[in-house]
Amino acid sequence: MTLLAELEEFVGDHRPHATLTCDATKPDWNGYLLTVSCPCGVVLERWVTPEDAELDLLRAAAVTRDAAGGVGGVEERARSATDEHGGPE
Ligand SMILES: [Zn+2]
Repeated sequence: MTLLAELEEFVGDHRPHATLTCDATKPDWNGYLLTVSCPCGVVLERWVTPEDAELDLLRAAAVTRDAAGGVGGVEERARSATDEHGGPE
């Protein structure tokens, strides 16, 4: 299982519980430790290599941002963007 798949599975399982907290150690030459924790007490820890970091973390960031943002916040932003476009013209 890839790092990304594990991360997506974790987020899918725990997103309903609460906002997930994402943390990472300082990057070293061989990578860094990524930690995603849920308030329910489950913590996902994965070592991210520099190769993983380039590809997966871009996607992972999107997954985590989506998890933290909540549906309401996203819709709110989309609506005001539409208003701005439709307004003057
Ligand atoms: Zn949980």
